[in-house]
This record gives sequence, structure tokens and C-alpha cells, in this order.
Amino acid sequence: MITDHLYQLLPEELSRWLVKHDHSPNQVRSMMAWAYKKQSPALFPRLLNDLEKLPKSLPSIIERHLSTDGTQKILFATEDGLKVESVILNYHRKLTVCLSTQVGCAMGCTFCRTGMAGLGRNLEAYEIVGMYLHLRNLIWHENSMEAPCPNIVFMGQGEPLHNFEQVKRALEILTHPWALDLGSRQITLSTVGYLPGLRRFHELPRVNLAFSLHSPFEEERRQLIPIETRYPLPEIQQVLKSMSLLPRQFITLEYLILKDMNHSERHALALADWCRNMKSIVNLIPYNAVTGLSFERPSEEAVDLFKKSLVDLGVRVMERVARGSDIAAACGQLASRDYSSEAP
Ligand code: SF4
Repeated sequence: MITDHLYQLLPEELSRWLVKHDHSPNQVRSMMAWAYKKQSPALFPRLLNDLEKLPKSLPSIIERHLSTDGTQKILFATEDGLKVESVILNYHRKLTVCLSTQVGCAMGCTFCRTGMAGLGRNLEAYEIVGMYLHLRNLIWHENSMEAPCPNIVFMGQGEPLHNFEQVKRALEILTHPWALDLGSRQITLSTVGYLPGLRRFHELPRVNLAFSLHSPFEEERRQLIPIETRYPLPEIQQVLKSMSLLPRQFITLEYLILKDMNHSERHALALADWCRNMKSIVNLIPYNAVTGLSFERPSEEAVDLFKKSLVDLGVRVMERVARGSDIAAACGQLASRDYSSEAP
């Protein structure tokens, strides 16, 4: 059932709400501009009055942490008192927000802090959109209203494709010209390979896809990403190869480098083989240490060596610069064990 909420409803649903409350459906565009674009079009006073009846509360910001490199970690509280984290990243003055799609995560990846605690619940579309609105307004407040809308990566807490319907709805709002109007290249969704959702990826508004590979060997990958047992690499590879992509669009293959584990010559050869004939780019991510987990960060030399092996094998490669590790906002470091916002 669709929650009646200003930031949850799509234009056709808002039109129906307007009709139900005896207003002209033609007001839907002005109403969305009022809600999403910080414009103040002249809404009829009677409509403004009726809008009071439509729920519109969003998750609230309860903590902010600033890293020495400019990264910000923002802790939100949902209405039912759960905590969820987001990050504002600043790469060469280009701002990107990393959004969560679930409170916790059911995937249980063994290198990830979020995976340690299991799934709290799915986030509703209005909560996902609401976090984006808060972060955009924060950026506008601290920079200028002229600052471009930040890009989005769905790489925070949760597996986005495990919360398919709400993520789909959030993407529809984020990309709708009457709402947030973000371009398809401004949004990247990251998955560990949850196949029931990956097979439906074409149902989503067009966005970039990042797949967390982390090892080209099934057995080794299983130790890192337990759902590999149910959704094995050959099946994922088949789905990825069959995806239709825009010109100059690539699937990003996220590759977390774990010290002494997955960066040998053997791995480079198998990885090059795995992504052959796939329109992809490998994104190398040196691991960020997580308290309580035994994985370690590799040396810079080891990362360089692995990168060179891949480049020599003809693989398209980039390396992610670590951001926010001093405030536990880097990749895989999000989420405390306790989801309750009442906790100290
Ligand atoms: S890496 Fe992503 S999918 Fe895996 S447990 Fe962490 S949040 Fe979930």
C-alpha cells in the first residue's frame, strides 16, 4: 500500500489526491515545485490549507561529523526513532551524497560494519528522498543556492535492490522533471548482486550501476559476500553483460582490496577474464579498517602493483581516493550496532 505522504506520491497520485480534495489536478506541477524546488508559486489558500492534512515530515538530522578532508557524516533519525547515516563527499569541489536505503542490511557482508547488525527495516521512498532534500539544503545553505544539486550514490547502509519498490519510487521522484529533476548520469546505484532485484534493473529510471565484485573467484567471494551462495557470479555476469547501456556509460565493478587476500597476479588474470566483453570499468578501493573486523588495509605499493597488472592486461581501471575514514564515514564503515536514536 502506498503511504499518503507529500514526498512519497508520484505526480499521477498527487493529481488523484487533489481531485479527492476537490482541487484542480492542474495544480500538481505547482504543488511539486512548492515541495521540491524551494519555489513559492501561488498555491490557492484553500489548497495550502488542505495540504496541512497531508503528512510531510522527513527524517531529522541529529548529528553531524566533519572529517579533516571535508567529508561530512550526517546521522538521521526516522520518525520511529531509528538511526540511519548518510555522507556528503567533496571530490574536487564536486559534491556527491551517499544515501542509505535500509536501516542496517540483511546481506551480511563480512567486511562491512553495516552487515554486522542485520536488517532493521526498509526505508520508505519519502525517507530516502527526505535525506536527499536535507543534504541538498545543507549544501545550499553552506555554499550558495546557486550550487548545483549534488550527485547521488546509493552506497550507504543497505542493499538498494533488496528494497526495490521503495528505491524505484524514490528514483522516480529524484529524476522527475517536476520534482528533483536529476539526470540519469547523476545517480549511481550500487549492489552486491542481489539477483531478484538486478534482473529488474531495467524497470528503474535509467541510472548508473556499480556492482561489488571484490573477488573473481566464487569460493573466495562467498567468504566476503555470503549471498554469493544463492546468487553466483556466472549468473550475475550473464545479467550484467546483457544490460543495455547508454553510449559512454559503463558498469562500475567495485573491487575492495583486502591486504594479502585478493590482489595477487592470479586475481588480476581472473578479474581481466571476468570482465572481458563487458562494458565496464574496475574501481579499486583500498579497504578502510573497521573496528572488530580482522581485514586490513593493503599498502599503497600493493595497490599500485595490482593496478598496474590490470592495466597491463587491458582492463579499464580507476582508484577511489579514501574519504572520511577519520569519522568512520568511508566505504563499509557506516552504521552503529544500535539503531535506536534513543541510545546514548
Ligand atoms: S556491503 Fe552493502 S550489501 Fe554488504 S552488508 Fe554492507 S551495506 Fe549490506
